[in-house]
Amino acid sequence: MATDVQTEITTEQVKEEYSNIKEEILVVIEEIPFDTITKDVSNGSASTRNAIIQEGQNGEKKVTYKVTYKDDVEIKREELSSEIIKEPVDKIVQVQTRSIITSRSSYSRTSGISGQSGVYKVTAYCSCAICCGKTNGITASGTKATANHTVAAPSTFAFGTKLVINGITYTVEDRGGAIQGNRIDIYMNSHSEALQWGVRYVNVEVLN
Ligand SMILES: [Zn+2]
Repeated sequence: MATDVQTEITTEQVKEEYSNIKEEILVVIEEIPFDTITKDVSNGSASTRNAIIQEGQNGEKKVTYKVTYKDDVEIKREELSSEIIKEPVDKIVQVQTRSIITSRSSYSRTSGISGQSGVYKVTAYCSCAICCGKTNGITASGTKATANHTVAAPSTFAFGTKLVINGITYTVEDRGGAIQGNRIDIYMNSHSEALQWGVRYVNVEVLN
């Protein structure tokens, strides 16, 4: 007759398993890339074409991570907090376009990282008239805007793209006139919540 196989985990086994686990608080200074703003001057003179009005400067943030090691190999990194030390300074370039229709200047933000994972300037909005100019809460893709789910992103992100921001997985469902370049707008339930969020430079991870 076969004897019972011992399946219970002994205290010794547990101790051995966890003795190789180490946790460490790691504080890292990370760069915040600057935005490039193109100032489109349709009736500008040739001398102002592509002139750099302001040089960009990267910002800096202090990020605190809890890093878990097993047998001295990093197995987990969790962001505990992030604090901006220095705001990035936008690079402003003045360009002249061919279409001379209006003398009004327009601003558009461009960035090399739009559409990819990286640090984005992340703002928040709600379905109110101040944020949207309408109040029906219907997104540009036709869905009903939902908190902890809906984000507005530039067209470099297709509708349906999943973005992870601060551990929450959002879906690109909306657009916004100001949401260009490396800007993301998170939908929230109320205007006060959106105001409380303010402007944050955070890491946005693109899934797939
Ligand atoms: Zn609002």
